[in-house]
Amino acid sequence: MNLIEQFRDGGLAHALCDAIAAACRPDRDYRLMEVCGGHTHVIARYSLEDLLPPQVRLVHGPGCPVCVLPAGRIDLAIGLALDRGVILCTYGDMMRVPGSHRATLTRARAAGADIRMVLSTLDALRIAHENPAREVVFLGIGFETTAPATAVALKVARSEALANFSVLNNHLLTAPALRAVLGEGDETTLDGLIAPGHVSTIIGTRLYDEFAERGQGVYVAGFEPLDLLEAVLLLIRQINDRAPRVDNGYSRALTAEGNPRALAAMAETMPERRGFEWRGLGILADSATQIGEDFAAFDAERRFDLCYEPVPDPKSCICADIVRGARRPEACKLFGTVCTPDDPIGPCMVSSEGACAAQWRFGRHRLAPTAGAVAA
Ligand code: SF4
Repeated sequence: MNLIEQFRDGGLAHALCDAIAAACRPDRDYRLMEVCGGHTHVIARYSLEDLLPPQVRLVHGPGCPVCVLPAGRIDLAIGLALDRGVILCTYGDMMRVPGSHRATLTRARAAGADIRMVLSTLDALRIAHENPAREVVFLGIGFETTAPATAVALKVARSEALANFSVLNNHLLTAPALRAVLGEGDETTLDGLIAPGHVSTIIGTRLYDEFAERGQGVYVAGFEPLDLLEAVLLLIRQINDRAPRVDNGYSRALTAEGNPRALAAMAETMPERRGFEWRGLGILADSATQIGEDFAAFDAERRFDLCYEPVPDPKSCICADIVRGARRPEACKLFGTVCTPDDPIGPCMVSSEGACAAQWRFGRHRLAPTAGAVAA
């Protein structure tokens, strides 16, 4: 048995489910939010919700950076590629995310824009070296998992005095999003949080202490089915004991301090941005990063004098509610009819971490005939 199989062991999964059923009090419900879209996909892929007692409700949270990026930010990238003649470098999951009027980077490329998918920021730097006569812009996106790589690219670009490279920065911060979802007050309908392991390897677990102090139990989980079932069990025990705390269920990769070198690189290059608009959550203070003054020459927003314009979500699309955990994908009138992965209306159907994409891929066959009725 290899290491991964141990985290997918069916016998252990059933034992955990039995323990969860035994731990659930019959007189109450348990609403647990999995913050990360990666967790949402594991839950859907392994049908974990079907294994849980009816009192346990898993709520999908705002942890997909593609889904929470508002259409206006995508418009900025499309505009750079189409109208300003830059080589735009992007991770592949951004290619089909709709901006306003359903424009996408894929469609912009078909219209002649020079848009290149990269696997790392180093690829973008290489492209800049290979094309000294062209402006090369890297579309930075993601939480603290991907931000350090952008920070390194900025440092390399400055040390090499790379004159034709810049970053369109959309990097987001985890804690402000959680504060927004939970509300700044004490009243919330969530009983506990399943926090993402990969982000936490960078930010550590101490950042979650404030939520435990406010009464929200937190369990930092990895991305295998047993990780998530264990998270549910231990959160239920925390809730029953009225003893909210932060449990590290990802100790194979994670310490309380996180990754100080990555955090230092971020702090050096990308300080907090005062306000940033999130899809579904509005403008959140100190919730994203901006490129610092020492690296201003590599800031695409300043270099190209870009101005962000908010754009309303498409009519009838409820992505904003989906990312807040307020509604489930099947509640959207467009789910599986007008909106499918082949022809998406909102980012939640596009992203590999989107809740609608997870439900489409793994859960639509269990829905009532009215939802997902045209599923192929
Ligand atoms: S099904 Fe499509 S339109 Fe509806 S919320 Fe999801 S992504 Fe948006």
